[in-house]
Amino acid sequence: MSTIFSKIAAGEIPSYRVAADDRHYAFLDINPVVRGHVLVIPRKEEDYIFNLDEADYTALNLFARRVAKAVEKAIPCKRVAVAVMGMEVPHVHIHLMPINAEGDIRFDRKLSFSPDEMQAIAAAIAKEFDAQAD
Ligand code: 5GP
Repeated sequence: MSTIFSKIAAGEIPSYRVAADDRHYAFLDINPVVRGHVLVIPRKEEDYIFNLDEADYTALNLFARRVAKAVEKAIPCKRVAVAVMGMEVPHVHIHLMPINAEGDIRFDRKLSFSPDEMQAIAAAIAKEFDAQAD
């Protein structure tokens, strides 16, 4: 069985990609809670984050930290907040959300950006992520 997020990581379903390596993929949430809301996933299919083995769990979190550093450079914010829920999509994903106040995060209030805006946000984060490798 292939999840929608596996198809996104494989490029079979389009996404606003911000970062990737051979084991992970990061892209903009299609219904962002804040500007610059990113999802970080392992390419390997697993439903529940705490069922990942130690190596995969550690690698995912280290990759998410690199993405978060790129997000905080690209999107002005006080902090990048982290959340893991997985109530909607049965494929491990870490939410990264740049915030300035606790009240910025409301999962019952989704924002909407045009395709051009989403592309620009993704490109800004990707540029910062790619700069880390230099
Ligand atoms: P959760 O499973 O953590 O409760 O939430 C899943 C998240 O994935 C939601 O924030 C939702 O907007 C996002 N999402 C669901 N389907 C897609 C999709 O096809 N593309 C993208 N980019 N995000 C999605």
